Amino acid sequence: MNGIGLDQLQLENRFSLLSESFYSPVTPQPLKKPHLVAFSTEAAELIGLDPGRATPEQLSELFGGHRSLEGSNPVATVYSGHQFGGYTPQLGDGRAVLLGDLAGSDGQRWELQLKGSGKTPYSRHGDGRAALRSVIREYLCSEALAALGVPTTRALCIIGSETQIYRESIEFAANMVRMSPSHIRFGHFEYFYYTRRPEQLKQLADFVIQHHYPHCVEMDNPYLAMFSEVVERTARLIAKWQSVGFCHGVMNTDNMSILGLTLDYGPFGFLDDFQPGYICNQTDEQGRYAYQQQPSVAMWNCVCLAQSLMGLVKQSDLEAALNLFEPTYAVAYTEQLKLRLGMAGHINNDGQLIESFLRLLELAKCDYNAVFLALEKAASGDVESVTALLGGTTEVSEWLSLYLDRLDANALTLMARNNPRVILRNYLAQQVIERAEKGDFSDLAQLHAALRAPYSDALDIYSRDTPEWGKNVSLSCSS
Ligand code: AMP
Ligand code: MG
Repeated sequence: MNGIGLDQLQLENRFSLLSESFYSPVTPQPLKKPHLVAFSTEAAELIGLDPGRATPEQLSELFGGHRSLEGSNPVATVYSGHQFGGYTPQLGDGRAVLLGDLAGSDGQRWELQLKGSGKTPYSRHGDGRAALRSVIREYLCSEALAALGVPTTRALCIIGSETQIYRESIEFAANMVRMSPSHIRFGHFEYFYYTRRPEQLKQLADFVIQHHYPHCVEMDNPYLAMFSEVVERTARLIAKWQSVGFCHGVMNTDNMSILGLTLDYGPFGFLDDFQPGYICNQTDEQGRYAYQQQPSVAMWNCVCLAQSLMGLVKQSDLEAALNLFEPTYAVAYTEQLKLRLGMAGHINNDGQLIESFLRLLELAKCDYNAVFLALEKAASGDVESVTALLGGTTEVSEWLSLYLDRLDANALTLMARNNPRVILRNYLAQQVIERAEKGDFSDLAQLHAALRAPYSDALDIYSRDTPEWGKNVSLSCSS
């Protein structure tokens, strides 16, 4: 590709044009002996960067905090949020700085954030750093979800270091360059609402509309138009999560993107066995953010955002917009599952077929991803694997025959395009992390390559069933 070199990237910082009530200027703290751990050529292409003109040394120097990019004006932004249902009055970028934004190859503007770059005024008791293992997880998962067509922030590169940090044990710190058209969260709005600063809240909403929802300016009430779209985007995002079996783990309002993107990867997990109650976050004892709770929690989060917009939009209009969530989610979820099941078009009892399928899955508790691949085999005449997974009951065979009758000649093509051969199972991430912590990044690059092309035949090591020890792990928030 004809991209530009790293030195030619020209940053602005549009967010920093807002007043200082929205952020604090900060300087990234240099990492000791920074070195390149991973680099995403796809992400580079999005910002018009030629991967061949970004050497590991240049990347490490720049994103290890030893030199700054032309035009960068690093700031940490302030937000708040509802965490596990309770309101925390002040959060903010405690270990990330917004370096600025630039025009990508297709004109889209991308913000670059450096995550892990040291303390900011919002670090509270934290050290402002990120452990190598946690940025590897975010890097792999954001690039994996992007390849699956799930809206998400992106990851450009990881810079490892010899800076020691203290978690459950001593670990090495790393930086990740995160990219997103915007990193604004529901919590940014909540902060100005709860600190009773309607002027700033309006400025923030105007900023978001101007840069990210410009078509809303034409509407009767641009704030309502923006909010309605946020609700719809959020509903469609969660439908995609549910369909690919992704559990976010910490769906606090400060982790909800105003653009409906997957944001802030912590103790996330993909379903291994189909367990609707699966909790991927060890600290979430009540299962507030369990897999099956994600749609209702997302709706709850939209209600929090609505509350913050009370000064800009009439309550009845906010309620009407919130009512878009459920139908949007239901339509999008059915659509996604039908793609995975190879069901083109619309037939009256499709809804029932899907419901029965989910009930069978729940009874069988079999591997969620493998069952779709087994159904592909069944669609080409071999029902052995699907019967092995779902069981050989009359209910299964009755459902299977109704389902197979429903499929048309294009079913196999549709399924092959929508059922990943590889997903980022926790145990796969864990294996590459252990190698990376010993300084070997080759497995990381190999897994990343597989996740970038999830619908191509994957290496055997990635398509195997999850070993018992690696199933349904629940991770701590420590990162
Ligand atoms: P999270 O649960 O990762 O979404 O983070 C919640 C809040 O804690 C955010 O304001 C983060 O910026 C902050 N935070 C998380 N880890 C650290 C850290 N190591 N140092 C400083 N702040 C942190
Ligand atoms: Mg967060």
